[in-house]
Formats: sequence, C-alpha cells, structure tokens
Amino acid sequence: MAAEQLAKGGVAVDLYDSMPSVGRKFLMAGKGGLNLTHAEDTAKFVTRYEDRAPHLHLDAFGADALRAWAGELGIETFVGTSQRVFPKEMKAAPLLRAWLRRLRSQGVTFHMRHKWTGWEGDALTFANGATAKADVIVFALGGASWPQLGSDGAWTKQFDVAALKPANCGFDVAWSDYMKQHFAGAPVKPVVGRFGAHHRRGEFIVSENGVEGSLIYAFSAALRDEIARKGQATFLLDLAPHKTVAELARARGKASLSTHLRKRAGIDGVRAALVRELCTAEEIADDKKLAEKLKALPLKLLRPRPIAEAISTAGGIRFDNLTSDLMLKDKPGVFVAGEMLDWEAPTGGYLLTACFATGKAAGAGALKFLKR
Ligand SMILES: Cc1cc2nc3c(=O)[nH]c(=O)nc-3n(C[C@H](O)[C@H](O)[C@H](O)COP(=O)(O)OP(=O)(O)OC[C@H]3O[C@@H](n4cnc5c(N)ncnc54)[C@H](O)[C@@H]3O)c2cc1C
Repeated sequence: MAAEQLAKGGVAVDLYDSMPSVGRKFLMAGKGGLNLTHAEDTAKFVTRYEDRAPHLHLDAFGADALRAWAGELGIETFVGTSQRVFPKEMKAAPLLRAWLRRLRSQGVTFHMRHKWTGWEGDALTFANGATAKADVIVFALGGASWPQLGSDGAWTKQFDVAALKPANCGFDVAWSDYMKQHFAGAPVKPVVGRFGAHHRRGEFIVSENGVEGSLIYAFSAALRDEIARKGQATFLLDLAPHKTVAELARARGKASLSTHLRKRAGIDGVRAALVRELCTAEEIADDKKLAEKLKALPLKLLRPRPIAEAISTAGGIRFDNLTSDLMLKDKPGVFVAGEMLDWEAPTGGYLLTACFATGKAAGAGALKFLKR
C-alpha cells in the first residue's frame, strides 16, 4: 500500500521481503475467506481500535475506500453475516495477483529473500549480505504471529517498542486427560461468554491445551491483560442461554446427570463434559447450585497461547515515537506501517483495514517528505 502511494507519485520503489514471495499472511487470511473489512457505521467501526483509532488514518482509508480500491483491481466484495466484508470469490490470491501486476506496471521492483537485519550507517543491511540506500524508507514488517509466514518480530531489536503480545489468541486450560483425549477439537455452541461487564454469544473450540476460536478471541485482549495483572482469568460460560436458573433448577428426581442436562437444558456432548470437568461433586448433586453453574460455568484460563499461534500482535512501535504521518521522530525519512505499530483490534476485517490505512498514510507521508 505504501509502495503504491510512492509509485503513483512517480518515485522509483524497491520492495524487499525476507520470504521467497510477498503476502503470505494475506494469502493465509484468504483461507478463511479474506475478511477485508467491516460494514458497520464508521462511528462504531473506529471504537474497535479504542484509543489508537485517531492514529490509524481510518478517515482517509476506511471500509468504503477499501472496497472501492479492491473494486478498481477487479475484485467485487459483498457484506456477509454480521456485516463482515469479503471478496465475492472468498479468496486472497486473485486480489494479490491483480495488485502485484499493477504495482509492477507502476515500476515497483521486488527483491525477495532479503531479510533486513539492521543498519550500516544510513544503509539497510540484509542477511544475504546485500545493502541498500534510499531517500525514504517504509517498514511494514508485520507482527510476530505465524512466523512461518515471514513476520517473526526479529525487527523489534532495532526499535524502541512496547513489548509484543498475542492478540486474538487462545488460552491454556488445565484440562483433565479425559477432556483432552475425548474432546480436543470439539466446537462448543451455543454458548454465551461473559467477562467483566461484557457478554457475547458465539462459539469456541476445546483444544488439547485449552480453548481457542472466535468467542475466545473476542475477549482475548481483556483476558490477556487480566492474566498479566492477576496471574489467571476466569471466563464464565452460559451453557443454557435460553433458560433461566429457575427453569434449570427444577428438581432432577431420579434422572441421571446426563439425562437431566439433556432434557432440562439441551446440554450434551462436549458441553456436558465441560459441566463434569468444571463443577464439583457437591455442585452437581445440588439442583440449585448446578443450575447456577450452567448459567455461569467458571473456566479458569492460565495463560495466553504463544504469540506464534495468535491471529495478530499487540504492542509494537509506539505512536509517541512517530509523527502523525507515521515517520519516526528520531529517524527523519523512515516510516512505519501495519501490525508493527502499537495497536490491536478484534477479528472482523479490522486488522487488514488498519494495515491498509496505515500503509497508505506512511506511503503518502514518505512522498510528502521527498517532495519537501
Ligand atoms: C491465520 C490468519 C488469518 C487472518 N485473517 C484475517 C482476516 O480475515 N481479516 C483481517 O483483517 N486480518 C486477518 N489476519 C490478520 C492480517 O493478516 C494481518 O494483520 C496483516 O497481514 C498484517 O499486515 P502487515 O503488512 O502489517 O504484516 P504481514 O502481512 O505480516 O507482512 C509483513 C511482511 O514483512 C516481511 N518481513 C518481516 N520481517 C522482515 C525482515 N526482517 N526483513 C524483510 N522482510 C520481513 C514478511 O515476510 C511479510 O511478508 C489474519 C491473520 C492470520 C495469522
């Protein structure tokens, strides 16, 4: 996106990437259909970035502009469930192909297998021994999730950064062997998750180490920060969203726990296993206590899963160290964009939108700097 701004402005652009080809994480996002952006109204949209929104240039390149940009590349988009925006083909490759073709025609030169390692004076140095000088530089080296796709966070050594943290991540839970052996991979739905003042309906997956999936990701920033403060976090699960405690507490009589859960609450399979796993024998034996637990089953989260497994990265280069054009204050002519910056957002197309918007802003800032 930054290269595009500079090339359109008539600047010769060289683009270096450590991988054999560009856009690997973008292509991976395509496996989930490529949720490009979100169609909710702008006032709501910007709240997803909390206090970082003013730094991200979303007013200059928000959801509508992004859809129009994709359209210019021949990629039609549509608004899917819960207002998420996808390309009609639900793939990233056609968009990436068209985009690279256009960048090449604008004169952008691609240098693959060039891993940036630092500086030699004002020249960039690369792991393969190459060096390069430029009048302006834009870094867009990504976060540290899924390092096999190229963004490994090694660049943090070169900058003053807020520590990188997993965002949109799973969490470890101390499952019993029984739970791991029988239910790893099982989707839990319907369920309402609750943490603090927030609750949300959705689904998650029991993994061998803990829990992951969209409902968990939606709460992950708050849960991660709670664990950092208190050593653990308790996420409450409502396994019977359509029932009240009073309905669930009606006497079980002689029915077995399985029958009671199935008939009274529609709970079976992995959700019944969660009840057995997370309730004490005393709670299971007491109809009222059991009913209360079905509405608020406490799931103890021990720690976030490693950043390498997360969907995205929080932390990075602080906005305090940047001008509003995303130039490093202590390195005039050096700009930064994308997930390297210190912001985070939930899934839903917000991540790519802010990467595009900051890429565009950094490129435009670099062009302005050159012209000055
Ligand atoms: C599985 C998965 C699915 C996702 N799905 C979505 C989605 O549907 N919607 C959404 O909005 N977001 C999604 N995301 C997040 C989104 O893909 C990222 O936020 C986005 O790609 C970040 O863009 P970026 O340009 O900042 O970094 P990246 O896309 O990570 O690109 C950084 C580039 O820098 C290169 N690089 C890194 N270090 C160096 C170095 N030292 N020298 C040279 N090159 C280097 C890397 O090789 C890479 O090509 C998903 C992420 C994952 C992991």
